[in-house]
Amino acid sequence: MEFEIIDFHTHPFSEAAENICRHKEFCGLSRENTPDYLRSLGISHICGSVLDANKSFPEGTTLWDRLSYSNQKALELAEKYDGFYTAGFHVHPKYVRESCEEIEKMSKKGVKLIGELVPYMDEWSDYSCREFDEILDTALAYGMIVSFHTIDNDRIDAMVKKHPKNIFVAAHPGEYENAVRHFERMKMSENYYLDLSGTGLFRLGVLRHGIDLCGSERFLFGSDYPICSPAMNIGELLLNPLYTDEERKNIFSENAKRLLNL
Ligand SMILES: [Zn+2]
Repeated sequence: MEFEIIDFHTHPFSEAAENICRHKEFCGLSRENTPDYLRSLGISHICGSVLDANKSFPEGTTLWDRLSYSNQKALELAEKYDGFYTAGFHVHPKYVRESCEEIEKMSKKGVKLIGELVPYMDEWSDYSCREFDEILDTALAYGMIVSFHTIDNDRIDAMVKKHPKNIFVAAHPGEYENAVRHFERMKMSENYYLDLSGTGLFRLGVLRHGIDLCGSERFLFGSDYPICSPAMNIGELLLNPLYTDEERKNIFSENAKRLLNL
């Protein structure tokens, strides 16, 4: 059976400095050939935010300037990639007004995805803070999906409890303890999803465990390209006989299509 594959978690880049692959010199990937490379793996659509971790900015550039720069780059790439890429954008609790205005602006452009948010790169650490509450209320009002990197589990619990109506997509199953905490939150809130990118999926049985507890409708295929190899995660889902074709179909594409109206 052939599966349509949507990679919900990527970080496309518009210049070499934004490519945060640690082995990039050995891969030959560029802004131009990224879609062909991913299509060669069977991926027909990607989502996610642009990251500027390796880029140097002129003195005096504020954090919000940097985040807006990445947001702008994401929009430009979405246009260049012509339907292949759903842009995700950054918001930040230090910049509540700017973040809420960005949500409004992005919504007008048809963008529905915040994130992946990566607080550890952007000088914050608490998803449950009051300032982020305000941003999440605005995100909900505009029907935004919030994709976020997994950090402190207790604070994620607090965020999800305070915002039961927001649609969250957590990134990375992680090791056993993290994965179980994600599954508990999925049971706590029907609006909490998990994407399979980054670390964790290589632990045998972790996804079967999650599907048995929460159903295959709550997981999204993701890789964290270009940091991680999409082929690894595709292989697990395609080759491991632990999954049914219906589960594969949901995770590879159906759940992402439903959430993002693709
Ligand atoms: Zn990521």
